Amino acid sequence: MRMTPSQALDLLASDDLIGLGMEADAVRRRLHPGNVITYQIDRNINYTNICTEYCSFCAFYRPVGSAEGYVQPLESIFQKIEETISLGGTGILMQGGLHPGLTIDYYEWLLSSIKRRYPELHLHCLSAPEILNIAEVSDLSVRDTIARLMDAGLDSIPGAGAEILDDEVRFRIARLKCRTQEWLEVHRTAHRLGLRTTATMMFGVGETLQHRVNHLEHLRRLQDETGGFTAFIPWFFQRENTSLGRFIKHEATAVDYLKTLAVARLYLDNILHVQASWLTPGHKICQIALRFGANDVGSILIEENVVYAAGCKNTSNEEELRHLIADAGFRPCKRDTLYRKYYLD
Ligand code: SF4
Repeated sequence: MRMTPSQALDLLASDDLIGLGMEADAVRRRLHPGNVITYQIDRNINYTNICTEYCSFCAFYRPVGSAEGYVQPLESIFQKIEETISLGGTGILMQGGLHPGLTIDYYEWLLSSIKRRYPELHLHCLSAPEILNIAEVSDLSVRDTIARLMDAGLDSIPGAGAEILDDEVRFRIARLKCRTQEWLEVHRTAHRLGLRTTATMMFGVGETLQHRVNHLEHLRRLQDETGGFTAFIPWFFQRENTSLGRFIKHEATAVDYLKTLAVARLYLDNILHVQASWLTPGHKICQIALRFGANDVGSILIEENVVYAAGCKNTSNEEELRHLIADAGFRPCKRDTLYRKYYLD
């Protein structure tokens, strides 16, 4: 029987951390036999930090006209890609602010230029809010925007910008950013066009446990409808250097993170992969998360600017991630962005 929203709420509120972890671990073992934990090598590339949304949890963006605002030259993007490939990287995660002056022509040029030079590189790019912004400034439908980006080389869409999928929360922390239904609609449209996407959740922004359950319910329903999500990736808000941080008394704790991860593994019975994060929780909690339902530790994130700007200085490399996985009792295995290719030793 499928877990109901009220059961999920009870579990999030429960103190039985170990019991919850064991249940989620049993699901992980059933879905991913073979004692393998996967990871990926890719690089975050932020093509611009100029943004019009002023999200209260973001320390990365610069407003239009700021002396610190940038749009990366293509040559510097190529250089970052070269470094990624030399480290065994198979793809890039390219995202940026919501730039009011960059229309679809810019993105088509950017993606096709990269694809022409690096045809094997997987382009996991442009979150739902960015796609909505491109559609708006280019006077296009979301469907046509995604279709044109796909023609230019877009391979999949990251789940960023979801934060908490509940408008009560979104209105409070990111008033100008897309609403829940808009985020879902971008992913629905992408899935219908044959594109895979990921789903994320950034929690610890002052939401209630009910808001978290609402988020999971939205994702489960859309996945029932389309089957297009490859993975669910939760992490918690990093509050340093952000305006929202002043109002959040306590960051999410390790226990809160592990419980949320485990409930997500149990609730999202239709999403195959659940990713543990090392970026905000740190390497040690990430290791424990592998016994709380996660089957993947994500990417080494060669360059991460968004969470870094908010005060999180954790870094990693392939050797460290493999050690982290092996030391937790698993077999490390590199994968590609879509979890289709595995590189076993
Ligand atoms: S989170 Fe994204 S949309 Fe919000 S201000 Fe930062 S860059 Fe802009």
